Amino acid sequence: MRKFFVLLAITLLSGMLFTACATNVISATQPTLVFETTSEPSDVVTIDPPATTNSPSVEPSATEEIEVCSVNRIQAEPVYDGELLQRFDTNDSFVVLTIDDGYWDDVMNQMLDLLKEHNATATFFLLGKPFAENFSDQTVQRIINEGHDLAYHAYVHPAVEAAEKMTKEEWQEDYRLWEDALRSKLGDALFEKGFAPYARVPYGPWTYDYLTFASDNGLVPVYWSADNHAFEENRTPLKNGGIIILHATPEDVSVLKTLLEQDWKVISLSEAMADSCN
Ligand SMILES: [Zn+2]
Repeated sequence: MRKFFVLLAITLLSGMLFTACATNVISATQPTLVFETTSEPSDVVTIDPPATTNSPSVEPSATEEIEVCSVNRIQAEPVYDGELLQRFDTNDSFVVLTIDDGYWDDVMNQMLDLLKEHNATATFFLLGKPFAENFSDQTVQRIINEGHDLAYHAYVHPAVEAAEKMTKEEWQEDYRLWEDALRSKLGDALFEKGFAPYARVPYGPWTYDYLTFASDNGLVPVYWSADNHAFEENRTPLKNGGIIILHATPEDVSVLKTLLEQDWKVISLSEAMADSCN
């Protein structure tokens, strides 16, 4: 309890609080009660949400511990074209990083190293079969434990002609195979922790069948507003709130490096949607 009173005193005096997200230090606009934690690491403090703010949605109670990631979340409005998420409207200086495919364990680790070094997160639209067969357990655990999203791309990457012709039943079956592969590789707990309800059709043929399949499964289809050419002259540039698509390929490791050296905060879809503590 001593720790509790020390923490309380510090918090009331300074008006500052530390978040459960180990990498972020945030400013609170008002004093906030700090509860003693017993099971968390010593640098993690579990707090009650400020009484007058809208976030988060969990109701406080006497016994419940509530994890608050930030009281100063990214302020961004998702922009859709029909059902397709295209980008975010925002005044905040951030971009959303999405990385598709993923065949090589070493390339994935190079990208994860860069993301970690720059305190950035990404949404990985992964392939089920190569993920299950080619990636070490250590690599797949890193993806989740370092705060990235796992989202649906395909079990095995179809050719564009095949993707265009797939029925919603075939997408449903592909999604089942993908989820089975990821669950068996990650285990249920890590799968649940990392899974984010986003989908990107390979090559982008957003057919009626695909969109119906996505909607039936609560998956948000995600397009992009810039690609791996964004930093070249006369190409579509990346802007605040943009969604960039890269691929987990050797060629895009250097593009990722270029992106991370820009001034933007680079975040995952879940983080931009403010439904995650990543
Ligand atoms: Zn792909």
